[in-house]
Amino acid sequence: MFIHVTDQVYMVAPTDQGTFPSSISFYIDDEIPTLIDTPLTVWAQAFKASLGDRPVKLILNTHYHRDHTGCNYLFPTADVYAHPADIPAMVSREAFIQYYGFDKYADKSVFEGIMSWIQWSPCSVTHELEDGQIIKLGNVELTVIHTPGHTPGHCVFYWEKQGLLFSGDIDLTNFGPWYGNINSDITQLISSMEKLIKLNPQVICSGHKGVVEHNVREQLEKYLARLLEKEESILKALRKPLTLDELVQRKLVYGRWGKPEDQFYFFEKLSVMVHLRRLIELQQVEEYQGKYRATGAAASKCAQL
Ligand SMILES: [Zn+2]
Ligand SMILES: [Zn+2]
Repeated sequence: MFIHVTDQVYMVAPTDQGTFPSSISFYIDDEIPTLIDTPLTVWAQAFKASLGDRPVKLILNTHYHRDHTGCNYLFPTADVYAHPADIPAMVSREAFIQYYGFDKYADKSVFEGIMSWIQWSPCSVTHELEDGQIIKLGNVELTVIHTPGHTPGHCVFYWEKQGLLFSGDIDLTNFGPWYGNINSDITQLISSMEKLIKLNPQVICSGHKGVVEHNVREQLEKYLARLLEKEESILKALRKPLTLDELVQRKLVYGRWGKPEDQFYFFEKLSVMVHLRRLIELQQVEEYQGKYRATGAAASKCAQL
């Protein structure tokens, strides 16, 4: 699909909906014709068909995930911008594997299964994004806002004059924020969300939900609330000491697992580990005899809920 959003901005996607593993890119028709993100490599043909023969001189990648970088290779002459904290996972397979936690936490079958369908290949990144940087495309001027948490280098792009925010995987879907990589960070994600709520954009162009133009602030707040609800439910479960596996089996992050189940198990486990790392840091959870449990203060706080 190739759909007009507003002056000079188009939504371009290989399928009719952006739900993962599909995704939505945005095309800016300006002096420097620009793409914000490109979909998984598996969608290359459909993506090219949607874009037609429109020129692309610049690609701005919100983050390193393959559903946002997988078709960069279709535009070998374009400049490619990404944040330095995410670039290693775009240029090195080894770094990509470490960012996902595959090397330490995944079974061989999960690792190989995921690596085969994402078709990792190196991206040639030509420029580094920097928080606060202004990228002039002609009439359109985008401010780069570093919003780590989902990934360390996740960035969003703000067209201030129009109040329009390209938000990548701060995507406002019902699932809520995703933090299933070993170097995802919930504390950072919360402050990134708070930054965007304060920014108060009028329109959000999301990497999986498309264009959101009603109740934007409310939707940002709800999205953050979903994350906090999941954290509360983990704290509540830990009023009784549980092993990591017992906690993972409760499916408190995903709610239910799709297929293949071992991949969902892996991402549930990583997400729970990311929660636990933060909760231990906040001294709301402690490790005790191979199990995790809410500390006295956190447990009594939960009891009142
Ligand atoms: Zn992502
Ligand atoms: Zn995504």
